[in-house]
This record gives sequence, structure tokens and C-alpha cells, in this order.
Amino acid sequence: MAQAALVLQGLTKRCDRCGMANDASVRFCHYCGWDLAETPLVSSVQLRPAGLWIRLGAYLLDVILLAVAVGVGTAAAVATGAMTEGNQVLTNLASQVGTVFYFTVSVGTRGASLGKWALGLRIVRKDGTRVSLPRALCRYLALSAVFLPSTIGVLLIDPESFVGLGDRPEAVWEVLGSPSSLLIYSGLLTAIVFVIWLGVSKQRRGWHDLLAGTRVIRVR
Ligand SMILES: [Zn+2]
Repeated sequence: MAQAALVLQGLTKRCDRCGMANDASVRFCHYCGWDLAETPLVSSVQLRPAGLWIRLGAYLLDVILLAVAVGVGTAAAVATGAMTEGNQVLTNLASQVGTVFYFTVSVGTRGASLGKWALGLRIVRKDGTRVSLPRALCRYLALSAVFLPSTIGVLLIDPESFVGLGDRPEAVWEVLGSPSSLLIYSGLLTAIVFVIWLGVSKQRRGWHDLLAGTRVIRVR
């Protein structure tokens, strides 16, 4: 009872070794195993929110990492003959599932993707305690949902519509006004509002953080 009350008040134990916030009730750090017996309780209010630019930087690192992984995977599939014209859809699906897996497992077990980890960022619950696997998945899916319309727009692009555009300048307007283009504009607008929101909100919590009950903090 007393321990539950401590968490409600937003009290956590901040690990001296790795900087992560742990539930007030735990003895050993969930992330690095450090003994927290001597660690004083601190208020989660003292946690430092991570701002927009460092988070964009961390995301960029993750995107590069995933792009390299997909590139290596595709090259290996082509070299071994596993990749054929017919399983293009399957390959795309595999990289999507791999991306969800990567963000969910890294955040749900270590509190950060590799990009965030490299820049000293951690994803924690609103009260500063650790994020579970289901919550990490929820956070990633919430972020994907925000950009779902623009993702559909990109998938709907018809490569045929670009053929011969150089000869028919008036057709450019048809492409720019196509349903897929409109979805992509809505995605860009969403991204701008999303980024402004993240940059100015008090604890720097994005829409996906609000939905998943999380926040991103700096540990160094
Ligand atoms: Zn630790």
C-alpha cells in the first residue's frame, strides 16, 4: 500500500550508474542491476524532459540504422536467391514487422531505441518509471497512427502517372491534385503541427506520449 502511494506521488529511484528511474519499491535497477538500497527517492518532477532537436537526431540515427539493416537484409536475400519478384510484398511486410519489433523490444526492455540510447535519452512512464513491452508497442502504434494517412498516400502513388510528365506540363497539376498527393499534404501538415506541439508542450510530450502515458527524458 505504502509503495503504491509512493509511485502515485511520482517518487522514483534514480539509478546512480545508468541514470534510469526505477519504481520506488525496487531494490535493484531494472536496467543495469545496480543496487539501489542507498539511493534516495526523488520526485519525477525533477526528471529532465528531452527537447525536440535531440529527439529528431535520435530518430534520424534509428532511421539510418534500420535502413542499413534493411539494405543488408535485402542484399543477402538477393544474393542467396531468396528474393524473387513475387515476394516483394512479403519483403516489405517483413521490414515493417521488423521495425515495430525493433522499437517495441528496445523501448520495452531497455527504455530506449539505440538512437535514443546513444544520445542519452530514455522513454519512461509519466511518473518516471519503466515502460513495459505492451506500453512500448502502444506508443509505437500511436505514432504510426498519427502518420497513417500520409503513409497510405505514399503507398497509393501510381508510378505510371509520372511517365511523360515532361511532355505534358499541364498534367503536373493532375499529379499534384491526386488523392495520394492530398494525403501526403495532410501528412506534412500533421508533421508540422506535431513537431510544434512537441517543441512547446511543457514536458515535451508528443501525441503518442500522451496516448501511451509516456515521456522522454535526458539522463546526461
Ligand atoms: Zn541502472
